[in-house]
Amino acid sequence: MVLEGLSDSLRSSVRRIMNAPHVDSKVIREACIDIQRALLQADVNVKQVLELTKRIEKRALTEKPAGMGSGEHVVRILYEELSNLLGKGRCIELKKQKILMLGIYGQGKTTTCAKFAKFLHKKGLSVGLIAADVHRPAAYDQLNQLGERITSKVYGDPGAKDASRVVKNGLKELSECDVLIVDTAGRHKLDNELMKEIERINRVLDPAERILVIDATMGQQAREQAKAFNDAVSLTGVILTKMDGSAKGGGALSAVSEVGSPIMFIGTGEKLDDLEPFDSERFISRLLGMGDLQTLFEKAKESLDERKSEELARKMMSGKFTLREFYDEIDNVSKIGTMDHIMDLIPGGKGKIDRKKIEEGQNSMAKFRVMMDSMTEGEMRNPALIKGTRMARIARGSGVETKDVKTLIKQYNMAKNMMKGMKNRKVMRQLMKMGMN
Ligand code: GDP
Repeated sequence: MVLEGLSDSLRSSVRRIMNAPHVDSKVIREACIDIQRALLQADVNVKQVLELTKRIEKRALTEKPAGMGSGEHVVRILYEELSNLLGKGRCIELKKQKILMLGIYGQGKTTTCAKFAKFLHKKGLSVGLIAADVHRPAAYDQLNQLGERITSKVYGDPGAKDASRVVKNGLKELSECDVLIVDTAGRHKLDNELMKEIERINRVLDPAERILVIDATMGQQAREQAKAFNDAVSLTGVILTKMDGSAKGGGALSAVSEVGSPIMFIGTGEKLDDLEPFDSERFISRLLGMGDLQTLFEKAKESLDERKSEELARKMMSGKFTLREFYDEIDNVSKIGTMDHIMDLIPGGKGKIDRKKIEEGQNSMAKFRVMMDSMTEGEMRNPALIKGTRMARIARGSGVETKDVKTLIKQYNMAKNMMKGMKNRKVMRQLMKMGMN
């Protein structure tokens, strides 16, 4: 969970307000002190924190709760004020365009270029990457390797000295791509030379988007970076990386928003899927434990490869449900995200389900996959073959005990019987549709 510490504190403030028999000025005051403490711990600027809690207190005491209880009224004010603090966020337009990616060294810029390319690719756009960091020889290789993983074309010239020339050539080489993402050089700190180079690239490229990548662990210091880049090239947005591991993410979010550059995405891990569009209202709902089913549905839709799901549905409906289909099903479920992440997205989900149980479920799914990887295609297609010596061989090959293979077969049979039970094809089709919408 992103910003776990802040989220826990804010959730407990919300609970205290909601559970108070009378939400009077004392309860409001105490809640504001809790919120101050939580935001300061997340490295939000002192002045911003004081102004925010002053506004919450004033509004809570003077505004009339329209059609809701006084506890809900205060929580709604908290929600609105926190959303304002973080700015609105901004969505990327899905169109043909050129994107300039900026940032100082080590912020996660190159990784984010690849994540971004993957995100746009999933939305149906072809994306080319241009490696315009001529100062770090390994930068081209890094982008090239990432590009291969997401099947994006990468242009670079490892020997080149002039970054704007690389960009010019890249524009020609990758002209057939819908979107071009240009990864620029970083330095260890902000310096004039870096800014001059960026201004030159900006002129050659004439991009629709100039996006700064900032590491959220910088907390409030993100303000200085955002301001300097904004002054130089007038940023169109910011991506905050490493939100997964940062207790200071709240400070980074509020500091960037103060500069006036909208936050477009947040990076939530090292994997290329760990990039989430940023929408402050949804983000705050999750932080306050109000759930965000919309994000969950979007994730599910993206992850399920539609063609594969349709094929799976067809096979299941025709009564064919071998271990191969069982494997694909497990694969689809695990692509949606880890269970505890999903629980965060469901209203009241956090804490409802025993984390240990979730972990156990995840572990057994992973174990099932390893066991199935040790089976032959014949066994996958005809699970009835899996008995005695075959069972022992699969257990050995996957480093588990025979009883674990038995459990897998039992689970598979249960799933198969469930599928059989769904005689009504219309119901089945609807269920599959729900999974994809
Ligand atoms: P650059 O120098 O700005 O291009 O940074 P890199 O893209 O090379 O990233 C630096 C390190 O940060 C790498 O180890 C990345 O895997 C890691 N990284 C990037 N984004 C994230 C993120 O959102 N979360 C986490 N945990 N690590 C990230």
